[in-house]
Amino acid sequence: MAGMFKSLIGGALLAGVVLFGLVVERMATRNALADGLDRAETTLRQTLNGLEGHLRRFEALPALLARNQSVRDVLAAPDDPARLAAMNAWLAETNALIEASDLYLIDLAGTTIAASNHARSDSFVGQNFSYRSYFTEARDGRSGHFFALGTTSGVRGYYFASPVQDEGGQIVGVLALKIGVDEIEAAWRARDYRILVSDPDGIVFMSTDPGWLYHGLLPLAPDQLARITASRRYADATLSALQVQRTTTGGVQLMRLADADGSAHEYIATERAMPQARWTVRVLLDTAPIRAQARLVVLAFALLLTVALLLGWTVLQRRARLAERLAIQAAAQSDLERQVAERTADLTRANDDLHRMQADLVQAGKLAALGQMSAALSHEINQPLAAARNYAESTGLLIDRNDLPRAKENVGQILTLIDRMAAIARHLRNVARKPNEPLKAVDLRAVVADSVVIARTRLDAADATVSLALPDDLPPVQGGPVRLQQVIVNVLSNAADAVEGTADRRIAISAQTTAEDEITLLIRDHGPGVAPAIADRIFDPFFTTKQVGSGLGLGLSISYNIMKDFGGDLRLANHPDGGAEFRLVLRPARSQAPSKALAAE
Ligand code: ADP
Repeated sequence: MAGMFKSLIGGALLAGVVLFGLVVERMATRNALADGLDRAETTLRQTLNGLEGHLRRFEALPALLARNQSVRDVLAAPDDPARLAAMNAWLAETNALIEASDLYLIDLAGTTIAASNHARSDSFVGQNFSYRSYFTEARDGRSGHFFALGTTSGVRGYYFASPVQDEGGQIVGVLALKIGVDEIEAAWRARDYRILVSDPDGIVFMSTDPGWLYHGLLPLAPDQLARITASRRYADATLSALQVQRTTTGGVQLMRLADADGSAHEYIATERAMPQARWTVRVLLDTAPIRAQARLVVLAFALLLTVALLLGWTVLQRRARLAERLAIQAAAQSDLERQVAERTADLTRANDDLHRMQADLVQAGKLAALGQMSAALSHEINQPLAAARNYAESTGLLIDRNDLPRAKENVGQILTLIDRMAAIARHLRNVARKPNEPLKAVDLRAVVADSVVIARTRLDAADATVSLALPDDLPPVQGGPVRLQQVIVNVLSNAADAVEGTADRRIAISAQTTAEDEITLLIRDHGPGVAPAIADRIFDPFFTTKQVGSGLGLGLSISYNIMKDFGGDLRLANHPDGGAEFRLVLRPARSQAPSKALAAE
């Protein structure tokens, strides 16, 4: 398909180039022909001027010479040998002077009585020219002129004739002058042009090419031929028509004419009539070099076009290759994108699965937590309930026995158990409660001091010592003083539990400001630390490693949530030297002044 398209385009391009070439050839040829026509016309003008000038030089001479007295005298006494001799001499002398071909005197009968060429063997003397039109014209009182091939001399010439009149104005003879045309023709031969001069019948009588002489440029009708022969204008020359083909290209007249050797040439033909002599002068310019020049232009153009097309083709080819490369790249890109999309879909699926699993796990974790909670609660509540029931029963017996003091003691025990259960309920409520206490700036040093006081009983019970190392310039932190105190008491109580009964019962509280502008409170003990296996579970609700009855496993969970509420964190890090270290990460308070009074909460 693409190949067919390409060859179609190639064909169209070739046709276009050929068409364009033809147009260029036509234009170039027309241009060159128009140029040639200009040159030919210039030559035509020059030729015409030269010819006319030449003829004009002689035109008036016969009339002038005819006025000479001796001319009249000779005609008055034509049989006087002395006068004739003198006339012959005068004519020869004058003829030489005016550089004409022949000068001669004719009587009214048409017979030449004296001539400049009287001494030559082909002398005109005695010749009768009554058949020549120049003679008849002059005899009839007009000035005659005529072109002809001399019947005696066989030399072409132009004849001027004038009547000779006596004193009374009577025409007594004709003075004739013949000029040759050979020199004029000779001057033309040097040119690049062909020049033809033809008579009204179209017969060529002057030409740069002798082969064309006495041939007709127009077809000759038989009667026309007979008339010309009778006038003996071209003596005994055989007249025939030339093979002429006339065409026009771009307004330029062209003529196809065979040479003497028979080879035909095409010429630019210009012509102009010479009204006075009734001649037509033609200047022909061979078109062969002109056409060759046009062809050269076309060739140059074709070469240029070929180079341009080749260049264009190369550029197109290069573009096509580039487009191909880009397409390959685009395909690779889209392939990559498709792969990424597939992977993403896979990942999304995997992620969804993970989420489902997580949800399942959370659900399972919740159930586990519920189980733990139920176990813890049932023990925490059943145990005091059972005890209270025992006390109540024995109280009844004691009242029956009227042992009121011990009965009262039992009632006291029952009240203690009820208080314990109330405390558990309160604790649970704390877990569920979502405090709406607003955050404010809290003085950490004050809260820590209060917390230590509250935890004192538990610390003393465990025989633990507490050391405080808090910088004086601690910035106020963001939080709620009561809840923060609850967290610190929780962590301190755990620390007391951890060190109880161990050798090193020191608990250290310190604080530091971190690079992130956070304030960290560190509570470190020297107990056994948290086993790594449970490290990430100690913050879960109801997770405890303590004996049933000793802890609900809610302390760290509650504390963790409180710290998160503050925008902080609670982290466990076992100390490298042993013991657990809890880090309470707090954010610096934004603007408010720290609240020192807990009562304010
Ligand atoms: P409880 O104290 O009721 O067990 P907590 O949430 O406060 O509940 O603590 C959970 C568990 O974390 C504890 O049971 C204990 O195993 C562990 N723990 C907490 N603090 C420490 C500590 N300072 N040293 C060692 N273990 C600790």
